[in-house]
Amino acid sequence: MKKISISKEHVNEIVRHSLEVFPREACGLLAGDGDAVRKVYCMRNAENSEVTYALDPGEQFSIMKQIEDKGLKLIAIYHSHTGSPAFPSATDVARAFFPGTKDENFPGVAYVIASVSENGLRELHAFLIKGEGIEEIEVKL
Ligand SMILES: [Zn+2]
Repeated sequence: MKKISISKEHVNEIVRHSLEVFPREACGLLAGDGDAVRKVYCMRNAENSEVTYALDPGEQFSIMKQIEDKGLKLIAIYHSHTGSPAFPSATDVARAFFPGTKDENFPGVAYVIASVSENGLRELHAFLIKGEGIEEIEVKL
């Protein structure tokens, strides 16, 4: 995946969710086909934190099934940053891999980060987090 295409409407959904739980981090899944996002799945932040997020495994399982039933694929995981730029934190990078390995938890899946203030979106960027490091990919609106 070299870029991710996301409509203004889907960006607005991510921003709306991020503001709803502000100043805690929001998270969720982006389903699509190829590199185009078709549906945003808002999830709860299992850590309920202002500096980290964690997907709820049960919720993730049920959404993955819905994505499959629609004939779509998981193409990205999104989360918000409420006090830092839209760039993966050390925790984000560490958690992209199985503990103690360079095996990606979600091979080929992008990480979309929306940095928000209480007033709205500051910036949104997408990354691949791989063994070789963090690679920013283009976000096509
Ligand atoms: Zn983060």
